[in-house]
Amino acid sequence: MEERWVYMDGEFVKKEEARISVFDHGFLYGDGIFEGIRVYNGNIFRLREHLVRLYESAKSILLEIPHTLEEMEKLVVEAVRKNKLRDAYIRLVVSRGVGDLGLDPTKCHKPSVVIIVDQVTLYAKELYENGLEIVTVPTRRNVPDALNPKIKSLNYLNNVLVKIEANRAGVGEALMVNADGYVAECSGDNIFTVKRGVVYTPPTYLGALEGITRQAIIDICDRVGYTVKEEPFTRHDVYVSDEVFLTGTAAEVIAVVNVDGRTIGSGKPGPVTQHLLSEFRKLVEVEGVKAFESMTRSVG
Ligand code: PMP
Repeated sequence: MEERWVYMDGEFVKKEEARISVFDHGFLYGDGIFEGIRVYNGNIFRLREHLVRLYESAKSILLEIPHTLEEMEKLVVEAVRKNKLRDAYIRLVVSRGVGDLGLDPTKCHKPSVVIIVDQVTLYAKELYENGLEIVTVPTRRNVPDALNPKIKSLNYLNNVLVKIEANRAGVGEALMVNADGYVAECSGDNIFTVKRGVVYTPPTYLGALEGITRQAIIDICDRVGYTVKEEPFTRHDVYVSDEVFLTGTAAEVIAVVNVDGRTIGSGKPGPVTQHLLSEFRKLVEVEGVKAFESMTRSVG
C-alpha cells in the first residue's frame, strides 16, 4: 500500500503522524471551514469552484486564510501529486487554529490548514443501480440567520444528527426540511426531483449548501436540454415526483426510489436520473485541473 501524505501548515507529514492540537478551535468548537473535492482520472473536478466556496465561507466567518486562492490551488495539486492518486477524495480543512479554552477566536493567531488526499466510497455499487431509500427526519435544517447552511463550516452537528436519525431508521440518507417545512437538502447531499421531464431543485436560500455537483447537474441539464427550475417544494411534491436523485461530491449522482415509504415513480432509477448520471461521469473524466501535467484548467 502506498504511503499517504497529509499537508499540514507548510509541510507534508505521513498520515499516521498527522496530528492537530487539542487546543485547536476546530476541535474545541467546530470553528473552521472545509471542502470535499474529488479527483477523477487525475483531474481535480471544479477545484476553482470549491476554492471560491471555501474563501466565501472564510469571509463569512471572518477567518483569514493564510494563502491566496491561487496558492491554495497549487497546494491542493501538490497534495494530489504527492499521494500519487489519480482517483481520490480531497478533504481541505481550515480551522481557526490553536487558541485557549475560551470561545474567543482572537486568541487564535494562526489558522490551521490541512489537506488530506485519500479514497472514499459512500454507497455500495448496488445502490447506484437500484436507488436509495430515504426518510424525512425530525431535525430541521439550520436556519440561515443562525448558521447559514451556505457556509461549509466544521460545525456539522446539524447534519450528523440527521445522519444518526437516518441510521436509526435503517436508511442511507435522510431528507431535511427547513423551519417552514420546505424541502432543503439531505445530510450531505443536495436533492433534485423530476416531474414530466422538468428537473426541480430547491433554491439554496431555503437552507442548502450551494453544491458544486448540484451546479454541475444544472449545467448538464442546460446543455442536454432539460428545463431546471429552482423553486420551493414540499415533501408532497417529492412523493408525487417521477424521479428523485441526490448530488454530492462523495455521493456523485444517486437515485432515490423510496421516500418516507412512498415509492418514487416506478421504484427504479428513472431515465432522466440515469441520463444525468452518465453525462456527469463523462464530464468528470475530462473537466478539471490536471494534477499530473502542467497546471492547466480544461473545460469539457
Ligand atoms: N449539502 C451538504 C450539507 C453537504 O455537506 C454537501 C457536500 N457533501 C452537499 C450538499 C453537496 O455539495 P457538493 O456537491 O459541493 O459536494
